[in-house]
Amino acid sequence: MRSERGMLIVLSGPSGSGKGTLVKSLLSRRDDTVLSVSVTTRAPRPGEEEGVHYFFRTREEVEAMIAEDSLLEYAQYNGNYYGTPEQPIRRWLEEGKNVLLEIEVQGAEKVMDHRSDLVSLFITIPSMKELERRLRDRGTETEEAMAGRLRVARQELSRAFRYDYVVLNDEVEKAVDRIQTIIDAEKMRYSRMENLILEVMEDAETD
Ligand code: 5GP
Repeated sequence: MRSERGMLIVLSGPSGSGKGTLVKSLLSRRDDTVLSVSVTTRAPRPGEEEGVHYFFRTREEVEAMIAEDSLLEYAQYNGNYYGTPEQPIRRWLEEGKNVLLEIEVQGAEKVMDHRSDLVSLFITIPSMKELERRLRDRGTETEEAMAGRLRVARQELSRAFRYDYVVLNDEVEKAVDRIQTIIDAEKMRYSRMENLILEVMEDAETD
């Protein structure tokens, strides 16, 4: 069989929607899918490793990458740059791997504006009450910061219409099942199955 290109999958949603947990679980279930490692100017958190969680870079270094157009997208979030290096993605897609971008909503919209060959997923929480509960459980927010985050989350939810799919994250394993269903169905789109059809037709001609 001719080898198929991988799919570019953008996974976004409000802070607190649990994107990171979903991605981890999804990657442990699929060996045809890899996660793009972003560059960031924020400091590493305990346990985070260079090249695994992020490429930790200075503002100057990230600005140089922006200037030389080597990022597929970038955004500023909480005063730091976050960006997606383009070159590894091109290579993985050619090798037939699906590439996941786990990014915030401004960056996701930039990718959607510039590429048509992607599948976009918006992760949502079941209710604002649940989001508030999750943020409270983290225990890192002041009341004021919490109100700010909830306001931002509401704005982010209002952009969900830009995405191909909305995935409810009520329970991690159920949400990952939903993402799996989407990936499996997307692989069967005509545009991704055309090579198979051509091959079957060629076979028919040489029979
Ligand atoms: P954190 O600092 O908690 O790791 O990430 C903060 C936010 O930045 C998360 O919503 C995460 O999805 C997003 N993010 C991580 N990498 C990128 C990136 O390359 N581009 C954009 N636009 N957002 C990113």
